Amino acid sequence: MPELQAKELVDVLNIKKENKETTPPNHYTEAGLIKLMEEQNLGTKSTRPVIIKKLRDRGYIQGTKSITATNIAIAVCSVLNKHCEVVTKPKLTAMIEEDMELVATGKKEKNEVVDKTRGLLKDIVKILVKERNDIATELRSATRNDMTLGNCVKCGKQLVIRISKNNKRFAACSGYPNCKNTFPLPQKGKLEATGKVCEVCGYPIIKIVTRKGSGVEVCLNHKCSKRIEQQKVYEAELMERQEAKEKKKMQFAKKDKEVTKKKQN
Ligand SMILES: [Zn+2]
Ligand SMILES: [Zn+2]
Repeated sequence: MPELQAKELVDVLNIKKENKETTPPNHYTEAGLIKLMEEQNLGTKSTRPVIIKKLRDRGYIQGTKSITATNIAIAVCSVLNKHCEVVTKPKLTAMIEEDMELVATGKKEKNEVVDKTRGLLKDIVKILVKERNDIATELRSATRNDMTLGNCVKCGKQLVIRISKNNKRFAACSGYPNCKNTFPLPQKGKLEATGKVCEVCGYPIIKIVTRKGSGVEVCLNHKCSKRIEQQKVYEAELMERQEAKEKKKMQFAKKDKEVTKKKQN
């Protein structure tokens, strides 16, 4: 939109209605993310892939062809943005890296850079410690819907998603240590509560959302007969999809061969 001055004449006859939609935010591939980090001066050639792997391992990003931020990542960013914006902005990291580069090339004193960085981090930690309770409450409420799957049949408390020490997710009863009920969870795909309950065992039905957005609903209880049945159907579907993919690949390869043959003739 052009800016207008008071009393300016506007040509209303030539106004065109355009059907432009706001473009959705970009989804990045790993290479795209690395390029973006390069542009923002974040990390080095060797640390950038390591940083991305760390984000994935900690459950902040998912997907490969199109990397998306998980709900927890969005929650962490928005809560930190509110309380201590400097942590979430690339400027700070880029500045520290730049300083280190200057130390490495002998253009700055190591002690000077260490003191400066220490001072900066001290200020940040001070803010985070002061506001830790608010930050924790906000994070908890932002991720509550993600984490709760439904009720425990044994004690009636909530079953929630937890991350084990070796970074595997599983469902556990929030009544722990009184109730030690746990269930294994698929490690891939976003999990959602459906609010439904299994008619066979009474445990919650969860939805596993795949990368393309479609999902399957299964009983949380891996020992339930219904779940075993659902699992078979799901696995058969996966197999079918895989076979269809292979078939397509073969067809393409065949076509390619024909084309090269024609060219040779
Ligand atoms: Zn329980
Ligand atoms: Zn069941």
